[in-house]
Amino acid sequence: MGEIIDGKQFAERLRAEIGRQVVRLREEHLVTPGLAVILVGEDPASQVYVRNKARQAREATMASFEYRLPYGVPQETLLELIERLNGDPAVHGILVQLPLPPQVDAGQVINAIRPDKDIDGFHPVNVGSLTTGGDGTVPCTPLGCLMLLKHRLGDLSGLKAVVLGRSNIVGKPMAALLLRENCTVTLAHSKTRDLADECRRADILVAAVGRPRMIPGDWIKPGATVIDVGINRIDTPDGKGRLVGDVDFDSAVEAAGAITPVPGGVGPMTIACLLLNTLEAACRQHGLPVPAGLMEAAWG
Ligand code: NDP
Repeated sequence: MGEIIDGKQFAERLRAEIGRQVVRLREEHLVTPGLAVILVGEDPASQVYVRNKARQAREATMASFEYRLPYGVPQETLLELIERLNGDPAVHGILVQLPLPPQVDAGQVINAIRPDKDIDGFHPVNVGSLTTGGDGTVPCTPLGCLMLLKHRLGDLSGLKAVVLGRSNIVGKPMAALLLRENCTVTLAHSKTRDLADECRRADILVAAVGRPRMIPGDWIKPGATVIDVGINRIDTPDGKGRLVGDVDFDSAVEAAGAITPVPGGVGPMTIACLLLNTLEAACRQHGLPVPAGLMEAAWG
């Protein structure tokens, strides 16, 4: 039976390290990293995410600014708010919670965020930086996955990685990051032929599909490291429902060398990496060195 990778515990330690660096930044340089989160509409899941992000920023003693706009807000109003935050020196990171309502063009909104304040790493400047080896902001979820992989495996060089799902926010940046780590990467999607065979060749399997328990244990190469990004709510007899990943955990844990659970795997890492990106953005915007070794310190 494989090791269960405790993303929750690792994220807690990483957040504590980030908190220490925030205090140091304030004491030595009078800088308090500031995170602005914009939520449009009242989608319950988005509300929970935004609340958690703002709470954890405050716990790390960052400045947290929350903006809640009605579902029908005109795009112009949203763009004006972003413009204002772009020019606000107390705000180092701007996050617009996705999805956005249909009258708003998400691409235009993302493009309006100043690239050095785009702590989600979705702006084309940051996307380009990731693929050309620059030091722009890396999207939080793939960054969290990479940390868990390095924690477990150390050097990833030469390993065969299969990323399932090619979205702009998870799959594509994940594949780019693994390539940067010298993995041999396959990026699979809904048109991929012989998906099971592709998965069975993977030393590293990252699942970001959004389909409950789609990947059974017999798709996992024995000893592989499995990172399950999927968050899917399924019905339960008591009517409360529960969250499961894209991987069928019970069968996959038997084959895998290590696997992340859902919940408690990738999810907590995503928010920790958001705080890390905000801290780094604050340092860069004030011309200060970006603190090194946080990840290693969190491993203990
Ligand atoms: P998207 O819906 O944007 O992308 C899903 C991808 O999966 C697409 O590339 C699609 O292929 C592929 N796919 C769908 N069905 C199949 C199939 N049957 N076989 C192979 N590939 C398939 O999802 P996201 O990337 O935004 O999110 C993926 C999952 O990760 C979701 O469950 C989401 O909730 C979760 N998530 C978790 C986060 C966390 O912090 N833990 C953060 C972000 C997302 P194609 O392109 O061909 O359509």
